Amino acid sequence: MKNQKSVWVKGLVFPLILAAIVFSAPAFGQTTAIRAGNLVDPASSTVVKGQIILVKDGKIVEVGPGVKVPAGAEVIDLTNAWLMPGLMDAHTHITLDFDMASGFDIIYLRESSAMRALRGLRTAEDILQVGFTAVKDVGNDANYAAVDIRDALRKGWFIGPTVLTTGKIIAPFGGQTHRIAPEQGYFWLFEYLDADSVDEVRKAVRQNIYYGADAIKLVSDNSAFHYTVEEIRAAAEEAHAAGLAVSVHVLGGEAARKVILGGADGIDHGFYLSDELLQLMKEKGTWLIGTEFPAAHLEKLDPAGTLGKANEEAAKYIDRLKRAYKIGVKMAFGTDSVSNLPGKNRGEMMLDYLDMWDAAGVPAAATLKAMTTDAAEFMRINKVRGSIAKGMAADIVATPANPLENIQALRQVSFVMKDGQVVKK
Ligand SMILES: [Zn+2]
Repeated sequence: MKNQKSVWVKGLVFPLILAAIVFSAPAFGQTTAIRAGNLVDPASSTVVKGQIILVKDGKIVEVGPGVKVPAGAEVIDLTNAWLMPGLMDAHTHITLDFDMASGFDIIYLRESSAMRALRGLRTAEDILQVGFTAVKDVGNDANYAAVDIRDALRKGWFIGPTVLTTGKIIAPFGGQTHRIAPEQGYFWLFEYLDADSVDEVRKAVRQNIYYGADAIKLVSDNSAFHYTVEEIRAAAEEAHAAGLAVSVHVLGGEAARKVILGGADGIDHGFYLSDELLQLMKEKGTWLIGTEFPAAHLEKLDPAGTLGKANEEAAKYIDRLKRAYKIGVKMAFGTDSVSNLPGKNRGEMMLDYLDMWDAAGVPAAATLKAMTTDAAEFMRINKVRGSIAKGMAADIVATPANPLENIQALRQVSFVMKDGQVVKK
């Protein structure tokens, strides 16, 4: 009797579990067929009409005009939409809610790594819903919280984009803090690794790789002292040997020149880069992840105006973006969105940066490329994500209008598929 009962219970419970799985994601082996009215290829800035995309086990298995829909496939009709690879942001801080008036110090005191991870998961869901299917989180994530977020998302425990993480930010003494009282010790090591010589930089890179980083991030010029060419080169050598890219927070001037000459893969921010340095970036193949904050975001981030008047600052960022595009610097879309404006979630704030690209006169096609193909290349995930082609991960979004004609169409993402799972329809 006992055995029979347990068989009966199993017989009931197993289908219930299966039903839950089917509800949240297609069952293993199940094919989904998407009727794509207009398929956008950001790499070539072209649209092909009347395509069928077959998706199975999280991957695109076929794309074309005459693809046969297998019997039993779930069919999604997007014949009136524009489809493209999921959007990417190469500079996020999903565990942070920050403004310069409060500063980092209070966050370190008040928020545990667990709290930061929970915020990160919440943010991850918001940014996936607006169409971002991959982001690079560049530090300020407490004690490696983003590594845990990335791993939890990979296990499918929560809904979110692919998250790459840089681990702790490597910086000259003090990280991005200033004048912590000596009695408090090296308070900033919660989020930064001090590295003040070639050997210390190498060790810090190795520590981050050990704890699970997918890329390396340095801050160079947050103090009166900045990294030398040799220190940047050491970081690049160590990271590249492990297959990781290096990007460096630097605003401009001689510190930026050293970052470029040291062989970093990318410059984060670069707000005050001269034409000469942008030209040097072009020659060396250095990426720019420009993070051009809109004025309204700057006002929230920096209420005291430490950086300058929000409008004037934003105008400088637009001008630098315009010059970088004109010179032909490789650019990956990155926002650095770190705080929430009332009534907007983080994903909506990330889309506000489209206004800056428009204001700089960057054509919609180039902006879309920076948000997909180019971001994937910079983040070194372009062999698995960032295009709609056979064998690629099924990260697909759709809009009701053509983003190659007006990039603001991305504010109306109406369909999101992440690794084959429909998360918005
Ligand atoms: Zn940042």
